[in-house]
Amino acid sequence: MKKNNRVKKINFFHKQLLSVVAINILPLLIMSGLLYSNAITDYKANLLETMDNEINLLVSTSKSALLFDDQDAATELLSALKSYTSTRYAQLYDANGAVFAEYKRPGQKVDMPIEQFNGEIIFRNNNFYLSKAIMMDEDHLGIAVISADTNSLAMQKSHYILVTGWAFLGSLVLAYLLNWKIQKRFTAPISELIGLVGYVAKNKKYHKRLDGGRHDEIGDLILGVNTMLDTIETHEQQLYNRANYDELTQLPNRHLLMERLDHAIDIAGRNKSEIAVLFLDLDRFKVINDSLGHGIGDELLLQISEKLVGILRKSDSVSRWGGDEFVMLLENIEQVEDIELIVNKVILELSKPAIVSGHLLHITTSVGIARFPQDGKDSLSLLKHADISMYQAKSQGVGQFRYFKSSMLNKSVYRLRMEMELHNAVENEDFFLMYQPQLAIDGETVVGFEALIRWKLEGRLIPPDEFLPIVEEIGLMHRVSLWVLKQACQQNISWQNAGLPPIKMAINLPPSFVMHQQCFNNIASALAGSGLEPEYLEIELTENTFLNARSTAGPILQSLKDLGVSIAIDDFGTGYSCMSYLQDLPIGTIKIDGSFINGLGLSRANEGIVQSIITLGKSLNMTIVGECVETEQQLNILRDMECDIIQGYFHSKPLDFDEAENFLTRKQKPLRLRSIKN
Ligand SMILES: [Mg+2]
Repeated sequence: MKKNNRVKKINFFHKQLLSVVAINILPLLIMSGLLYSNAITDYKANLLETMDNEINLLVSTSKSALLFDDQDAATELLSALKSYTSTRYAQLYDANGAVFAEYKRPGQKVDMPIEQFNGEIIFRNNNFYLSKAIMMDEDHLGIAVISADTNSLAMQKSHYILVTGWAFLGSLVLAYLLNWKIQKRFTAPISELIGLVGYVAKNKKYHKRLDGGRHDEIGDLILGVNTMLDTIETHEQQLYNRANYDELTQLPNRHLLMERLDHAIDIAGRNKSEIAVLFLDLDRFKVINDSLGHGIGDELLLQISEKLVGILRKSDSVSRWGGDEFVMLLENIEQVEDIELIVNKVILELSKPAIVSGHLLHITTSVGIARFPQDGKDSLSLLKHADISMYQAKSQGVGQFRYFKSSMLNKSVYRLRMEMELHNAVENEDFFLMYQPQLAIDGETVVGFEALIRWKLEGRLIPPDEFLPIVEEIGLMHRVSLWVLKQACQQNISWQNAGLPPIKMAINLPPSFVMHQQCFNNIASALAGSGLEPEYLEIELTENTFLNARSTAGPILQSLKDLGVSIAIDDFGTGYSCMSYLQDLPIGTIKIDGSFINGLGLSRANEGIVQSIITLGKSLNMTIVGECVETEQQLNILRDMECDIIQGYFHSKPLDFDEAENFLTRKQKPLRLRSIKN
């Protein structure tokens, strides 16, 4: 294992270089071996040839010395051999085998008896021995003997070992250097690639690329890696965008907002500066989505996000929190006016109508503001407090803003409890209906009832204007409205079944219900389910219903009218100022808002308004209902103005089912439906 680790630590370049050099060693060794062996063989052959020549020379020159028995001449001939350092000794024997003359190198002695010579070369103990017969024609004159040592051969051997060793080493170094150079050329880009891959794997950064430009396999490899990194980088960018940006508006999403907010808090904490978190929620956006579809809702959100970005200062940012909620982060706040300047701009810009696919859309926004450091020390509490302030703003009406106050926290806990209780109430159908009679102006004839939803929590009656906005916000309004619709139809038919004269039942439906694609089917099946004739049902709508969706409302209301259901405008005079819808839509009844009725007898301007509404309604052949009539004076004025129907405490408060039945029985004089005109 340790060995493996060591091998791994040697880099690719050196591994390859060492492999190539190792492969080079074998042929170099063989070459060196051959060189050495050849040199030695040559040297040995030369040495033997020299000695052979010498003995031949000795044989031919010593003949006369032997013939004339001249020992001095023979000794002189032999001593000439000392010029050959290898010569150990040389001897001349006469024909009788006796030593005739001899030469011995100092320190050498004769160590081979003449009997052992056989004419061949004898090797023994690093020495060699030659002998040759000396002949004169047929006569045997004697024998010449030479012995030489092989010391010079041994010297030559070490010399050759040294030479071939150096040659081997030199070749090895040359091979190493040449391979180093060549490998460098080939492995440098691979090493760079390995370095790049290592860098990418370690740092998860995909922006680096290698310079390609080679037209070989390595060039292809670099191109492949670069392309792969391009793809990964694109995917990474997409992943990052998906994780941090809203797909529709391309604004930062809540994840990135939290990061930025944390960062802003850090900096503000260090610099002792202030920041503000603005929580924006569009008012009645759901109605647009429900009635005109998500495509138009999305387009509107896009336009709004562009408006918000346009309002920002350089140091600010805006994120989409989700749905129709946005969060703006304002940094370096020097004075509260800085915030208000921007908030007012936001509310004003967003309240300007937007045109989406030919629809003129009116939208407003509610804003909650929390500031650092006074309203929260961390991002979560700042956002929570801005959100709570936004709800407070919304509860004050549309297009408002509120700064966070700690007293809001109690309200927020209360609201949370209300939400929970309302979920239970919807599940258990804990609501009930009260019925407020509507009488003809003569005060005698009951023409109908308005069904009003009521809810009791732990025995306490919660006002509808307190719980209905929450029902709407938590998305339960549709279910609640369906319940009201079915309940009102059931109870109305039960009076008819009990033999009471048929009267009209009015129910209040929110814009979101009317704009729902299933609106017609829901109403038709509630009527069919109960057996109530459509002419005994009236739906009351507020002007806001037509604010953003007249083109959608028209066909739905027309089909309801065709079915026989009547349509009334509730709280008339308080909403949308453009009244052309009165002409375009199949509206049969106008209910003048209670605030105008309350002012009757107190303000001439008010009376002028009421008279105008009545005149307008009558010119459009509509029935006029005065709501919240509490005094005889109000009744008389309305009678003088030729108002058709009266509803209010003057005649009756809202009644429970039994009381309403008694009221109807008592007044039993019905009834042509609702209006004298319809
Ligand atoms: Mg009403």
